[in-house]
Amino acid sequence: MDAKTGEGGIVITKLDDLLNWARLTSLFPMGFGLACCAIEMMGAYAAGYDLDRFGIIPRASPRQSDVMIVAGTVTFKMADRVRRLYEQMPEPRYVISMGSCSNCGGPYWEHGYHVVKGVDRIIPVDVYVPGCPPRPEALIGGFMQLQEIIRQETIRAPRAVQQLMAKRTAAQGQSVANAEQQVS
Ligand code: SF4
Repeated sequence: MDAKTGEGGIVITKLDDLLNWARLTSLFPMGFGLACCAIEMMGAYAAGYDLDRFGIIPRASPRQSDVMIVAGTVTFKMADRVRRLYEQMPEPRYVISMGSCSNCGGPYWEHGYHVVKGVDRIIPVDVYVPGCPPRPEALIGGFMQLQEIIRQETIRAPRAVQQLMAKRTAAQGQSVANAEQQVS
């Protein structure tokens, strides 16, 4: 809220700020976890840390969720499922990578033949939460970081459209590079 005028208490604000405020105070993460980090995530939801006070309430369906918390080890077997769940979420959607396994493969970095070395190889990540496992406070910090990202958004340049344009530009650049390679 930017300004309050007169005795009647009229509040003036920008539409962007109002929409962003509504979205960042009602984040709905998808209720799923992959490994030990998920226990800390459940701890964050429980009464002690009480994520509800931020308006963060888990949903049981990707179609009603706008945040995916990748909490734990992403095996190659699970990677397809994680990607499919992400695709089922409506835009605008966000991803928090929770813990070393999800960030970069963690303890499986060197010898984990079965582990994806970072979930950002299969889906885009907005916030990385470090730790093995990160404590609930760290996850809450990740959510606060995400809230700051949402606060900067504007309906004049929707994020989904920007991502699509970036993807298209990258694909065009690639096809130009391929054509040049064929000519030479
Ligand atoms: S980062 Fe550590 S605690 Fe989290 S899933 Fe990997 S091994 Fe488990």
